[in-house]
Amino acid sequence: MRYNDPSPLEVRVISQRFDIPNSVSIDTYLANDGYVAIKKVLGLTPEAIIEELKTSALRGRGGAGFPTGMKWSFVPRNTGKPTYIICNSDESEPGTCKDRLLMENDPHQLIEGMLIAGWTIKSNKGYIFIRGEYRYLIDIVDRAIAEAYERGYLGKNILGSGWDFDVYTHTGAGAYECGEESALLESLEGKRGVPRLKPPFPAVVGAFQSPTILNNCETFSAVPVIFRNGGAWYSSLGTPKNGGTRLVCISGHVNKPGVYELPMGFPIMRIIDEVCGGVRNGKKLKAVIPGGSSAPVLRAEECDIPYDFDSLAKAKSMAGSGGIVVLDEDTDIVAVALRTIKFYAHESCGWCIPCREGTTWLKKLLTRFHEGGGVPSDIDLIGELSANMLGRTFCALGDAAAMPTGGFITKFRGEFEEYLRKSRATTPVAELASV
Ligand code: SF4
Repeated sequence: MRYNDPSPLEVRVISQRFDIPNSVSIDTYLANDGYVAIKKVLGLTPEAIIEELKTSALRGRGGAGFPTGMKWSFVPRNTGKPTYIICNSDESEPGTCKDRLLMENDPHQLIEGMLIAGWTIKSNKGYIFIRGEYRYLIDIVDRAIAEAYERGYLGKNILGSGWDFDVYTHTGAGAYECGEESALLESLEGKRGVPRLKPPFPAVVGAFQSPTILNNCETFSAVPVIFRNGGAWYSSLGTPKNGGTRLVCISGHVNKPGVYELPMGFPIMRIIDEVCGGVRNGKKLKAVIPGGSSAPVLRAEECDIPYDFDSLAKAKSMAGSGGIVVLDEDTDIVAVALRTIKFYAHESCGWCIPCREGTTWLKKLLTRFHEGGGVPSDIDLIGELSANMLGRTFCALGDAAAMPTGGFITKFRGEFEEYLRKSRATTPVAELASV
């Protein structure tokens, strides 16, 4: 089931079964092209599978947008060690809610994507790491796994291939940090969810110190359709180097928020105006946070661009996890900056000082500023603090906190100055310790 009406502008590829009654069952899946791709793939070599994925131009849907075929090619083979397939379903980026729909509506598609990855590196074990708050989804995914065992798509000697593959669900405890791939692996292994030093990357030293393919839930879910219809077909749906479609999650001040499957490169302004019915209450657009809360904000006049990884990077932001937050002309940007940093300060795992202290100080400064006690030097201080965190933290969470904060200051400095004009402007920085 979906939570919003579909749009006629959607290209339903990985959400094609969402509206079919009982879409979670293996019978529905089998009646609608299910487990067709794995039958094809069992006749292919790892090299051929990886080449097809490269042709598809599929890029990781978790946030970084790394080319999937290339990632799979990094996994060393024949090392004598076991190998693992890990699905990152720890979806926690504010503004993002699409992995949930994939597991809730089409869990067999995800299992088939993991099967294809498993066959590619001859792995015998896969884990689906599901965020703690999605506990209700575990029953759905576990039921699908049980069905796949019953029909011979999981377990011993899959479809007579002589190859065995098991899949397990594993629940996180609700920490945003465990969406970071190496922290996820630590958590999966039963340890505190803090990141590992990289390199080595998980492809080489991943789960249980072994070579691992670790991808996002949406990335795995896109794999079966690529092998059913071909990499070239999938690639042609999107823009160069940005193949296929994407589940875009739109929230904020639009008339029809929701999750829509759109071709990569679909223009942002058309998403807002045509897919989502425009800005709510006839208001003007002020800004867009284009790729989850860690993506630097775009001003309205910067939004006339295609929605894909490269176009967003060129605009000095990112497509990230696919969560678009639309802000209308009445939005208080200082309040948005404060809400954003509160999240990251809360979720900082505390492992490294620039992030632990940086997010705490940014929260204190922005709290005071928002409450009317800011001083003129605060604006530059917030910008400097953010800039000093960038690239200096142990994992990407520090950057995820610094980038949007710096973006709010740079793009909307006038709003911060307006706050100052109305503020008490008396609290010295030293008193911030009490905020
Ligand atoms: Fe932890 Fe933040 Fe450092 Fe990442 S950047 S290790 S979340 S303290």
